[in-house]
Amino acid sequence: MMQETLWIPYTQMKTAKEPFRAKAAKGSWIELDDGRRFLDGVSSWWVNLFGHGDPEMAEALANQSATLDQVAFVDFTHSAAEELSKLVLSELPSSLNKIFYSDNGSTAVEVALKLALQYWHNQGENLRRRFICFKGGYHGDTFGAMSTSAPSLFNRPFEPFLFNAFFVEFPERGGGVEEKEERVLNQIAQELSLRSKEYAAVLVEPIVQGVAGMRFCRPTFLQRLERLIKSFGLLLIYDEVMTGFGRTGEWFACRLSETQPDLICLAKGLTGGYLPLSITVASQKVFDAFYSDEREKAFYHGHSYMANPIACRAGVVTMQRLKRNPKIFQSFAQRYTPFLESLSSHALVANLRVQGTILAFDLVSQEVSGYSNPIGKQFQALAFEESLYLRPMGNVIYLMPAYTILDDELAFACNALNRVLNKM
Ligand SMILES: *Cc1c(COP(=O)(O)O)cnc(C)c1O
Repeated sequence: MMQETLWIPYTQMKTAKEPFRAKAAKGSWIELDDGRRFLDGVSSWWVNLFGHGDPEMAEALANQSATLDQVAFVDFTHSAAEELSKLVLSELPSSLNKIFYSDNGSTAVEVALKLALQYWHNQGENLRRRFICFKGGYHGDTFGAMSTSAPSLFNRPFEPFLFNAFFVEFPERGGGVEEKEERVLNQIAQELSLRSKEYAAVLVEPIVQGVAGMRFCRPTFLQRLERLIKSFGLLLIYDEVMTGFGRTGEWFACRLSETQPDLICLAKGLTGGYLPLSITVASQKVFDAFYSDEREKAFYHGHSYMANPIACRAGVVTMQRLKRNPKIFQSFAQRYTPFLESLSSHALVANLRVQGTILAFDLVSQEVSGYSNPIGKQFQALAFEESLYLRPMGNVIYLMPAYTILDDELAFACNALNRVLNKM
């Protein structure tokens, strides 16, 4: 029984039901101890790109662990870290050229925030301490990440300890988007014209706000945001922890939007979902502010397992496979098309939307939209009965499968969504 020793995250242990017990996973399927099988509709929390139990990955990781398992990534570097950094940079805008390793999405964000603050500090601009962030945003559960994420159930107990950020609306695609974008950009321009010297950077989830409920913005909004904040000299930080490595249908959201942030945070898909690893990518401009004869201008931040060779090897395999066949993430808009009509015609489905490999819709519900809406739990339970693993966010239902999901498995998932909708 889990209650004896395990404390499950995001879970009220007193009232929660026992989690399922996973025994094995192969391709898009998760197998339980009791013999049941679930189609993994959410890539095991947005990380798994090539399915589970992938032989190419397993072999590469076994070889790496037998050759070089771990080394202090301060006095040593290694080929896996070097290869991976070259491969990642080869698909990013050329202005980005330094890779800083850490080991999860929250720390990738934490590193970006600290780099942005010290970037100004190193130049004697100690008053630039604030960030502009987006309502609904989610950047992780560490303190900097919580401070820049939208206030929520998750971070309420810590509110007195969080630094204060300036939050603006995320202009979601759809009705009235022009006015929303105009309003946001005006609000930022107004704030910056009053006190731009107090601001270090803008932090945004580009193209897709994930945890907020798969809310999509237009690429042109990011272009205008980039122009605006660069005209005031602030740094632009993209949290691509979820959108990176093909999720949006392009390699990265910065490429989709043809924008060039100063810092990018990457994690989730980086290792194909095999091992924890993350990257904060910095531009030459940011790097140069730390490059000095003065010791105190160095960046004093690190983690025991950063750039772990086995994790980096998983990253190398991931990048090689994506480069070999980018169609596996580019083709999803097309692959979803046959299923859109029946889903969108359902009375309970509103705002059906697709961005790259993500399909999402809002369940029509009497209760307020948002994470706490209980209708998602009900939908999830019915989906389990259809052998489909989903993890709705409030009344937002979405599919985010591994890129290798087979056509008949994708059809299985979409048909299961329809059957669940009919039972609601
Ligand atoms: C998941 C996520 C994070 C946090 O990553 P962890 O690895 O869970 O710490 C940060 N930002 C975004 C956009 C995410 O989706």
